[in-house]
Amino acid sequence: MMSSEKVCPRCGQPYSYIEKQRKGDREYYVAVHYLGYERTSNGKIKKKVRKCYLGPINYEYVTRLHNFTLHGYLVLDRELKYLEKIVQEIEELRRNQEKMIERLDKIVNLLEYFHRNFMEKRR
Ligand SMILES: [Zn+2]
Repeated sequence: MMSSEKVCPRCGQPYSYIEKQRKGDREYYVAVHYLGYERTSNGKIKKKVRKCYLGPINYEYVTRLHNFTLHGYLVLDRELKYLEKIVQEIEELRRNQEKMIERLDKIVNLLEYFHRNFMEKRR
């Protein structure tokens, strides 16, 4: 397979192009696979295609539950964007060290509590 060939993340087959579609106020993308031509019942020849749903550019609904935006398949540098965002978040925490120490204290106390409970039950 040529490296320039675009492969559909849904079905693993090469696609011909990406198409933007709209449903209400939401935009999403589909990968269009050409399957050759077919003759319709009234004798006309038309292109046969299969479409795979790729989702919206950004996953707005899921994103609302997170601190950062989740990107769709078409955002090619999405892993880099996630890393940048995580580094920013950690930097933010570093600036607010009091808060970070408080949170870590809570976690450590909780772990110690569970550990103690567990060890007592084993005796
Ligand atoms: Zn596909």
